[in-house]
Amino acid sequence: MQTFLNTVNGQPVAAAKTFDSLNPATGEVIAKVAYSSRDEVDLAIAAAKAAQPSWAALTDAERRAFLGKIADTIKDNADALARWVTREQGKPLGGDGRGSIPGSRFELMGCEAWTRATAGIEMPVEVAFENEQRRDEVHRQPYGVVAAIAPWNWPLMIAIWQIIPSLRAGNTVVIKPSEYTSACSLEMFRLIADVLPPGVLNTVSGLGEVGGWLVDDARIGKIMFTGSASTGSKVAAAAAVHLTPTTLELGGNDAAIVLPDADPEAIATGLFWGAFLNMGQTCACAKRLYVPAALHDRIVAELVKLVAATPMGDGMQPGVAMGPIQNRMQFEKVVKLVEAARTAGATVVCGGQPLSGPGNFYPLTLVTDVHDGNPLVDEEQFGPVLPIIRYTDVEDAIARANRLDVGLGASVWSRDPEQARSVAMRLQAGTVWINQHGTIHPMVPFGGSKRSGWGVEFGAEGLKSVTRPHVISIQK
Ligand code: NAD
Repeated sequence: MQTFLNTVNGQPVAAAKTFDSLNPATGEVIAKVAYSSRDEVDLAIAAAKAAQPSWAALTDAERRAFLGKIADTIKDNADALARWVTREQGKPLGGDGRGSIPGSRFELMGCEAWTRATAGIEMPVEVAFENEQRRDEVHRQPYGVVAAIAPWNWPLMIAIWQIIPSLRAGNTVVIKPSEYTSACSLEMFRLIADVLPPGVLNTVSGLGEVGGWLVDDARIGKIMFTGSASTGSKVAAAAAVHLTPTTLELGGNDAAIVLPDADPEAIATGLFWGAFLNMGQTCACAKRLYVPAALHDRIVAELVKLVAATPMGDGMQPGVAMGPIQNRMQFEKVVKLVEAARTAGATVVCGGQPLSGPGNFYPLTLVTDVHDGNPLVDEEQFGPVLPIIRYTDVEDAIARANRLDVGLGASVWSRDPEQARSVAMRLQAGTVWINQHGTIHPMVPFGGSKRSGWGVEFGAEGLKSVTRPHVISIQK
């Protein structure tokens, strides 16, 4: 069985201790993964620190060329990496063409696209002020060593969002993947590190404690964390000790509001994928659907048809569109939330019982007659379950969408874009989509409001967030 090792200073690190990686579709152990010691974390940070000055001394054009090499490497290895993602994360392999299932091949396509887009962003010197007496230029400097910590839902794509802008800006990186998806992640990191100078990209792996050692270090110049709000709080507390700037991309509980003029048939596919992309294990999935009472039954009927037409199974099998839930902890959470809704009198329209056999299979589940205040509505389910809540007054739907302490994304669905925009303007979320949900883009800033996080990723603003402004103020 293959053991996946960390890469530090361009070299594999022998593993004194390992842990198992499981296939969520079968429950089988598919790989061994190195478990970093505290000393190894220390060495990884030291390697990144030593490599950073010469990486930052390259010209921006040289670093952009390295990003091009990374994108080529991802492309050349996309199929093999996608197979590891499916075996370890669970999402189906899917295709890589337009309109195909958004699975592992889609994730790899995203990794390449984000890398190329980030290489293409212009970062000109900004002139903040100029008159006859003075000129004030804002240049950008890297923070130094970026500590990146990634989750398990889109393990490669989210790691790319952390690594690529950091490198482009002249930082070096130490990254820790999720303990649930370390094999596929370490494989991609090894391939990327191979095309970079030694020490520019380094990895550590293990449980949360390893992430804790990584962020609790005065040599870290910037932390990029993506994961749950509870872990985000711990990371922020560690960062406070060293006053380390931090980007936190945390959980959400996105509301989707259908307006009374919407056409249920026309919006059903968008709502379906908005809620169930990656089995609902996506930070910005629609996790609460608010529908006008008059359209309720038609919308539910359309969604039921789509659920019935979506095959679930081991993602390595052709034609499978939905895989298992990634891990047992998340599976148990979904089971518990559906039971809480059922106990409170909700109607489980379809699904609602774990599938028999090995693996963490839970069917796509639609729940109606469920109300705000129920845990299935108020907590992030992060799984294949959508609560559908009736409303009669749009004002009330807006108030209910805004009542939680998280605000990552939200969406409004209507035939009238202007009416949708006026509702969107009032929703408390980092991004509000109109007639789509979760459709992120590498040039568009993305980040949470309220307890969904601090800072943004993607585009020029995302790139700025891995730099500090360096002002040159000239007397004329
Ligand atoms: P998690 O918080 O359990 O783990 C995330 C990472 O943090 C893992 O690598 C873990 O090992 C590490 N970690 C755990 N304890 C730590 C500690 N004390 N110090 C440092 N690192 C520690 O999250 P998860 O279950 O992997 O991911 C799911 C969550 O992530 C969901 O809430 C989801 O909404 C959120 N998420 C947010 C975004 C976004 O962009 N906003 C994207 C994807 C996922």
